[in-house]
This record gives sequence, C-alpha cells and structure tokens, in this order.
Amino acid sequence: MTIDTNCIEVAILGPLPQHFSYRCDAPFPKSGCRLRVPFGRGERIAIAIGTATCPQDIPVKGIHRILDEQPLLPASLQALLGFGSNYYHYPLGAVWEAALPARLCQGQQIPSLAPTAWRLIADANIAERGLGARQMVLLQRLGNGNVRMAELDSSDRQRLRQFLAAGWIEAAQEPLQLREAPLALRPEQAQAVMALRASTGFQAFLLDGVTSSGKTEVYLQAMERLVLSGKQVLFLVPEIGLITQTQARCAARFGADAVAVYHSGQGDAERLRVWTQARSGSISIVIGTRSALFVPLLHPALLIVDEEHDLSYKQHSGWLYSARDLALRRAQLEDVPIVLGSATPSLESLHNRQIGRFADLRLHERASAQKIPPIEILPLRKKRLVAGLDPSLLRACGETLANGKQALFFLNRRGFAPALLCRACGHVPHCQRCSAPLTWHRRQARLRCHHCGLEAPVPEQCPSCGAAEIAGIGMGTESLEEFLRERFPNIPLLRIDRDEVHTPRQLAERLQEILHTRPAILLGTQMLSKGHHFPDVTLVGIVDVDQGLYSADFRAPERLAQTVIQVAGRAGRGDAPGRVILQSHLPEHPLLLALQNGDYATAATQLLRERQQAGLPPFRALALLQAEAQRAEPVYAFLRAARSCFATELDCSGPVPALLERRAGFHRAYLWLEGANRSALHHLLANAISLLGNLPTARRVRWSLDVDPQNF
Ligand code: ADP
Ligand code: ZN
Repeated sequence: MTIDTNCIEVAILGPLPQHFSYRCDAPFPKSGCRLRVPFGRGERIAIAIGTATCPQDIPVKGIHRILDEQPLLPASLQALLGFGSNYYHYPLGAVWEAALPARLCQGQQIPSLAPTAWRLIADANIAERGLGARQMVLLQRLGNGNVRMAELDSSDRQRLRQFLAAGWIEAAQEPLQLREAPLALRPEQAQAVMALRASTGFQAFLLDGVTSSGKTEVYLQAMERLVLSGKQVLFLVPEIGLITQTQARCAARFGADAVAVYHSGQGDAERLRVWTQARSGSISIVIGTRSALFVPLLHPALLIVDEEHDLSYKQHSGWLYSARDLALRRAQLEDVPIVLGSATPSLESLHNRQIGRFADLRLHERASAQKIPPIEILPLRKKRLVAGLDPSLLRACGETLANGKQALFFLNRRGFAPALLCRACGHVPHCQRCSAPLTWHRRQARLRCHHCGLEAPVPEQCPSCGAAEIAGIGMGTESLEEFLRERFPNIPLLRIDRDEVHTPRQLAERLQEILHTRPAILLGTQMLSKGHHFPDVTLVGIVDVDQGLYSADFRAPERLAQTVIQVAGRAGRGDAPGRVILQSHLPEHPLLLALQNGDYATAATQLLRERQQAGLPPFRALALLQAEAQRAEPVYAFLRAARSCFATELDCSGPVPALLERRAGFHRAYLWLEGANRSALHHLLANAISLLGNLPTARRVRWSLDVDPQNF
C-alpha cells in the first residue's frame, strides 16, 4: 500500500469524539495552528495536531486555509490540553475550545500589540544625512534609553514609524521596579520564601498557613526576583470576587502595568488582549480564575494556586476539569515551581504532603501576632432561640457593636425561609422540576427554586388542602437580616449573598463599604467567608452548619471544616482579638470538637483517617458516570447497560439516584466507579468509554463522566 503523507490530523473545535484527517499541501501547518476545514456541508475551525497517514486510494478532503503561522500555544500547553482530554476523557476539540479565548475559536487573528516603549537597536546602521533636527533629537533620546509611547506627541510618533521602517529601533521591555518596600518577614514566612526562591525546576509546595498568616506576602516576595528579571507568574484565585484584592496588592508592589487579570466576567475583546499580552511576555503577573490556567506565558517561572481547597477550581459543566490539578501538570510540563496555598488545605493536598509529593511550608501564626480565636460551641438543644439565634450570641453581638466593631453572621442559605409548610396538612411546596422544596423570598414575594431557577407566586392557601395556615420554616439570610435590623435598629447592616450582590463590581463596592463602616453587622453566605480581609470584625457568629454533619455527600464534613475555619478566620485580623461562636444542635459531634481550638489540622487528620478506612479518595480514585433524561426509565437502562462495559477489576456500583434526584425536569442517577489509584481507574475508563457511546440506550440520555468528582 502506498502512503500519502500529505495529510494532517486535526481536532475540530467542539465536542466531536474523534479526530479527522485532511489533505494538505505545503506549507504544512505546525501543530497547534488553526485551520479552516470543510466539514459536512459547511466549514469548521480545527486545530492541527499532527501528521496523518492517509491511504492514497481513499479520497480525502483538503483543508481550506491555514489561520496561524505559529502555534497558538507553546508545546507545553498543547501537551497540557492533550493530557486534560485524555485524563478527563473529554474530546480534544472541546478542550481546546474551552481553553482558548472565544474570539480565537471564531477564527479571529491574534491582535498585534503596540509596544509601550522603544529603543535604538544597538548596531543600527543609521544614515544621518538628510535627517531633520527633530528627528536627530528623537534618535538621541532613543539612544539614551527607552522612550515611552505615552511621552510622545503625534509628530514624534510619526517619526518613530519612519525609524521602525528603516530598521533602526525595536520594542523595549520596560524594566519593572519595586513600588513599595517588601514587609520584614516573620521567620516562618522567610523560610517559605527562601524555599520557593531556591527551587528552579518543577517542584510542588503546599503553603499551609493559618488565616491571615501573610501567605500573600510570601507569594509577593517569592515572585519578586522573577518578575524583576522579566519572568512571568500565573496567579490563580478561585473566584472573580477575590481578584480585585490580589490585583491591588500585586500592583502596589510591582506597578499596575505589570499586572493583568483574566476571567469569565470580562468581554471577549479584553480577554483576547490580555491573552495576547501574556503570550508576548509583556505582562509579568496574570491573575485569574479557573480559565486563566490556559493563558500562555512566554517566560513562565512560577504558578500560584491560592485557596487551593476551594471547590470553584472544579469546572462543573462541559469539560469537568480541576484547575488545581491541571495546574500541577502545567508546572511539571513547563518545569517551574508551583505553590498551593490555603489555611484549610484539601484532604487531597494534605495526603500529597504526607506521601512526600508536596514540599511542606507552614505558617502557624498570624502575621499580626493576634491569636487564632478558639471556636465557642453553643449547644442549641435546650435553649430558647430568638429567630434561630441563641441569646448569648445576641449579647455578644451587642457588646461588639457597643465597642464600635463589626459582627459577622454566617448563614449559608439565601432567602427568607428554605421552605413553606402548611401547618394544617404538612404539605411543603416543591419545585415541579426538581426534587427540592421551593425557597421563600419574601421581599420579592416569590417562591424560587435554587436548583433550576423556577419561580412561582407565594400561595395564600395551601395548594394541597386549601387551609390558610401556610408559613415559612427555617431561616435564610433574608429573615436573619430582618430580625437583626429590628434588634439593632441604628446599626448599619451589610448583607452579602447572591440575591444582594450580582456582579464582581457590586461585590467590590460592598467589600469597600465594609472597610469604612463601624460599627456594623455583616451578614452573608459563602460569598462573605472567602479570603477577605476585614480588620474590624471581632465577632463571628456561625448560625447553622449542622447539615454538613449528616449529609450523604462524603465530602460534606471536609467542606464543613473548611468553611468553619475560614469564616472563623475573618475574626480578629486587626488590632483587637476576635471571638467566634458556633451554634449547633450536635455540640458533641467529634468534628466540631476537633475544630474547637481553631485547629484545622486535627480535624483534617481525623477526616483523612476516616477516608482511608472507608476506601475513599484520596486513598482510592473515583469517577462518576452520570446520566439524565426526562423519564427515569432510560437513565437506569443506560446505566445498567453501561455497567457491563466496565471490566471486573473496577469496582463499579449503582445505578444510584443523585442526591438531587430530579433537576430542571431531568431524572439523574450515576454509576460509582473506583480504582485502586488514578492510573488503574484511568485504564479501565479508557477501555469502556468508547463502548458507551455505541450503546443503543446512550441515545436516549445525556451522559457524562466526572473524574475526581467533587459534587454528587
Ligand atoms: P493570608 O493571605 O495568609 O490570609 P495576608 O497576606 O492577607 O494573609 O496577610 C494578613 C495581613 O498581615 C495583611 O494586612 C498583611 O499586610 C499583614 N502582614 C503579612 N505579613 C506581614 C509581616 N511580615 N509583617 C507585618 N504584617 C504582615
Ligand atoms: Zn427546580
């Protein structure tokens, strides 16, 4: 058989499971370049991934056009995407689509960047004859040092263009300078910075530092030499809301021009601009959320994943990757150090430290020398509660406010009441499309489903028995706000949850307001607990986290421990000591007792032991094969058929209904797939996954595979 080698293998952008081959004449595109290719009756954009061998006697379509001369991504990131596709069993074309700025997926060219400064080329061959006086002056300036575009008027810019055309000048990198003095480090901080600076190639560090221990200062000083010498740093944070604060601190240290941000809240044009600048090396520090992990850097030198335990690093639709886990792989591929930071490291990372995969950096004390406050556990059983709050918590709140400080209440439930209840017949109105009760939002006079967004009017009578005895049960941030406003009428109350704060900008404004309002009551959900620095909070009230103690989700206790320690960590960050009160119906629960001293490590060690005994991650590897459909029958038929595709070594159980059995009208269930380790699991998934698509029942459901699932 003769082989026609003028063929190229491509991944078409989008969720097509297979790759395709096209005929292609010289010049042959490099892998990582975009192409336009005929597909079906239309045309699609594809990524060249390698050469292909096409038998000569089978007609192969030719490509239409090559869009890039140079690969969009360096080889390391191309390899990262290949790994991400393989590990999560997700099509490569869809992985590329998720990783690239939208404009590039639409076929737009990479914009050319106007340099911000110019300089004379050292051995430029300048013919001075015929140059005007002004041209000479400008040339002299260019010879003396970098000339910034911002300093030039329009006629000088015109002259600059002539010089450029003549080949006399080149773009100049503006050297970075420290804009403020670094803080004098505490001994543990200094040790961490030294260890980070000493590592050149790939090495993973876990920076396990209590809340407000000065982790950010460690990052800043670890970056210092790198960015001052023209290298680049990628800094990931879990949520858009945390970017502003990080950006401000990096900008204060290295100048605003050195820093750029990249996240899903930006417009497509801006994302493409930042991506391009990072790729060209003209930005020193890229700060962003999950998707920033795929921003190319010309001179990568350090990766930072702050709040590494945060669930937001896991993508929850489409390509279900973990940005934290892929960041480790990226660091390996780029051969640079990576530091994962947290006051409450994930059990996965603690395990990795235990087995020596992560180097151990610790900060045991707060930078301010304030002690980490203990957590006072208030038993709720016998007490008479006022609007769900224990009287002694209210007393503590009164004292805090009288001292001109701030009290923070944490309740991770929005709305006025999590459900309505008919006192006559016990009926609870549920979402028609989800297996969950509707939440009562009294201010908007609506019932709302927090899973699918469905809204309904608030019934005046019970829809089931007609009695007019319908009332809210339980408590949400809206009812807590109302109560606290009544109880402390002259005190400003700032509520932060998704009903009150809709955009990152609003969040930034609200956080700013918090810094300037004293005394004040702060009230909020998870949104308020993450990473923020509130120097005037001296009391934290944790209103209700009991659900995490008896949830069916095996990760719930870990999350509860992290939340409690993180929320507690908002107290006493300034000059005054803090106090933390946690109310619970289960005050003797071993997890709460372990957390009592504000000590996450004890609780985490206990949780890790339980995971080991139960054979759960990180001691075994786990994946879920999820399926959903509008009727239950095809879901279970598919999952039962799927079971037979998996070889026996694999522990495979189910189908079991998802914790939320119905969502947005879809019945949901999964198979639970286990392996002794990641590679064993991977192997068995890889063999089965191609079979799944061919199952006759597969066509009647939506199915997806979640490797290392975080949610059930
Ligand atoms: P973390 O990121 O661990 O929560 P931060 O980096 O936000 O902690 O630091 C908390 C506070 O302590 C900040 O106001 C920071 O400026 C201050 N800080 C950090 N390191 C030092 C230090 N070595 N000396 C004095 N203050 C410090
Ligand atoms: Zn719903």
